[in-house]
Amino acid sequence: MLRIHNSLSGAKEVFEPIEPGKVRIYVCGMTVYDYCHLGHARALVVFDAIVRYLRWLGYEVVYVRNITDIDDKIIKRAAENGESLSDLTSRFIAAMHEDCAALGVGPPDHEPRATESLQSMIELIGQLIERGHAYAADNGDVYFSVASFADYGKLSGRRLEDLRAGSRIEPDEAKSDPADFVLWKAAKEGEPAWPSPWGDGRPGWHIECSAMSRDLLGEHFDIHGGGLDLQFPHHENEIAQSECASGKKFVNYWIHNGHVRVGDEKMAKSLGNFYTVRDVLAEHPAEVVRLFLLSSHYRSPLSYTFAALDEAKGSLERLYNALRDLDGDCSSPDRQSEYSERFRAAMDDDFNTREALAVLFELAREVNRHREAGEAEQARNKAGELRELGSILGLLEQSPEDFMKGSFSAEERAAIEDLIEQRQQARKDRNFAEADRIRDQLHERGIALEDTPHGTKWRKEQ
Ligand SMILES: [Zn+2]
Repeated sequence: MLRIHNSLSGAKEVFEPIEPGKVRIYVCGMTVYDYCHLGHARALVVFDAIVRYLRWLGYEVVYVRNITDIDDKIIKRAAENGESLSDLTSRFIAAMHEDCAALGVGPPDHEPRATESLQSMIELIGQLIERGHAYAADNGDVYFSVASFADYGKLSGRRLEDLRAGSRIEPDEAKSDPADFVLWKAAKEGEPAWPSPWGDGRPGWHIECSAMSRDLLGEHFDIHGGGLDLQFPHHENEIAQSECASGKKFVNYWIHNGHVRVGDEKMAKSLGNFYTVRDVLAEHPAEVVRLFLLSSHYRSPLSYTFAALDEAKGSLERLYNALRDLDGDCSSPDRQSEYSERFRAAMDDDFNTREALAVLFELAREVNRHREAGEAEQARNKAGELRELGSILGLLEQSPEDFMKGSFSAEERAAIEDLIEQRQQARKDRNFAEADRIRDQLHERGIALEDTPHGTKWRKEQ
């Protein structure tokens, strides 16, 4: 039985989908004005693993992850770069898709863009005004009236009085209550604008997710996810907008993933302490980064250190090492085994990937035990199970050989293959001393050779 920690109740709850056998899930995606950093990668990988697991359980999942392609930061960056908004956002959407592909993050079923959903947002704002939850100010802005929604604060536990005390009305704002938030911003000189019943302008950030989720998943759906920093105000405001427009509950389960930290700080663009996904992937194989991101529970903070990445690499090498030579012949994994059950129990406990990984390491040891005992069939069977369970986390998707070779640069690989060729030639010439010398030289570099009827294979030594 799957249990999910629901941020709305603050408790672990048994998961019951609205429609039996189906799960509708929405996750807030990227604001595309720069490269994704490791904090973004964590959210992408965590929700990818959650969706993979729900599908493995047999649910038919509809997964929506939006793209915010209009907002203050995008407008500012495009102006700084002297490029058009669409040139900037297309560039970073393409980069985000490359990062996702590299990390094994599958595409969502729908990936709506804010600028392509303006009509739905305008309709939703119109309904909120009609129902008395929003008002158009004299300057052309439209605001949500927080005081009109009695449940405001139910997700983040904040109280309206405290919010009022903590906010102020900026000179360019025309709201009547400091706690109110903007739904539509009147056009400003030099900024992009679209027509609306309240004059030219552009949408506020929060309204886009309420509109796009309603278009693609309906007024009431199962799971809404995002990073912890989105809980307030973004998700609180989404609830206010959606529930006031529909008169119904918006989302049953709210899932928030923790931050990636560097030292004592959250990794964030605004703090300038971030590592981009592409920088990290230039140094480490993608599955190593993925294993690192899943190595702690998704709700806990995760500290990025070089040592943690190295540890993840060692762990993944252990798993691949167990699959070595058994690959391609592990088609009938045992789904009923103790390991599969424990893996499932870990994932059923609020997607505890840390525990699930621990089961994979035990399973790898079991494969090695069978191998050493000469029990080839059991070894293959368990290796198949290891591969299947690994794939639920998006791991062990390569051949062990490719993975092991992947930790060498292309240049190193070429040099190794060159030496292997020289050794072949020495053997052909019956110069066994030279052949052994080359083997020893490779051994010193951590390369093990294996002579097979199909030629010499090499791998990284453990
Ligand atoms: Zn959102």
